[in-house]
Amino acid sequence: MKNCLICEQSVGAYHKILEITDYAGTQNFSIMECPACRILKTDPIPDDLGTLYEDSAFDKPQGEFHHFLKGILIRREIKRIVTATHSKGFLDMGSGHGNFSENLHKLGYSAVATDSHLQRPYYIRSIPQIPYKHFDYNKMLIEDPACVQNRTVVLRHVLEHIRDPKAFLQKFISWGAAYFYIAVPNAQSLERLIFREHNAFWHPPFHIWHYHKASMEKLLNSSGLEVIRSGHDTIPSVLLQLDFYTKRKKSPPWVRNMLFNPVANLCAMPLNILFPNNVLWVIARVK
Ligand SMILES: [Zn+2]
Repeated sequence: MKNCLICEQSVGAYHKILEITDYAGTQNFSIMECPACRILKTDPIPDDLGTLYEDSAFDKPQGEFHHFLKGILIRREIKRIVTATHSKGFLDMGSGHGNFSENLHKLGYSAVATDSHLQRPYYIRSIPQIPYKHFDYNKMLIEDPACVQNRTVVLRHVLEHIRDPKAFLQKFISWGAAYFYIAVPNAQSLERLIFREHNAFWHPPFHIWHYHKASMEKLLNSSGLEVIRSGHDTIPSVLLQLDFYTKRKKSPPWVRNMLFNPVANLCAMPLNILFPNNVLWVIARVK
């Protein structure tokens, strides 16, 4: 019998619950479920994950309005973490464009950014006080493990991409992490039920694991962490879902032109209220 990587129960094989395809609709994947903890997993996953991310450099800006809105949401998340942990130092793992580190620095906190790209992220290029360290996701090695010591490790939209999330978390614990802040797509959100196989958050093969609150807690507990706060956020997803749906259904260009223009984008904004709680967040401390 095989043990589930997340809950460590001896479960044998995961059950297939859904057939999905990638964004282009050319490659088939399965969504598998652990009968014990109900974690969902994409199958199969390519051996070399590094090549999937080669095109996603974060050295260009995202647009001023987007950057402004992201800043508001990020500062709300920082307040949430500091209230629970009283942390002053953060490791922004999977720093992307550098928005989170940028906001930490502006609020007076110590930030270290880390990601797989060699180029410094765009929004911290002019902030030399924020060290940028390289992370190798295949080998799970950070350029300078000492920089993790006593920090809160920020994992926003990272853990769903990691092949072995338990080994990944335990690396950071072994390097001296104090707390973790984790945000992932919520596998129990309403849009998963409505869009089913067309749901944009499956995002194969990039998203490997699909968590809900209970399976995330099982993973953290068995990794040596204790959950101290958790909750849900809502991020705008209506256009993302329509993009995936029309792409998979091979909708004619006029349908996509009608849906994806600045006026339609603005009109779609209030519809996001129909799809709440599509992100799960957790704050955990090392036991
Ligand atoms: Zn399990």
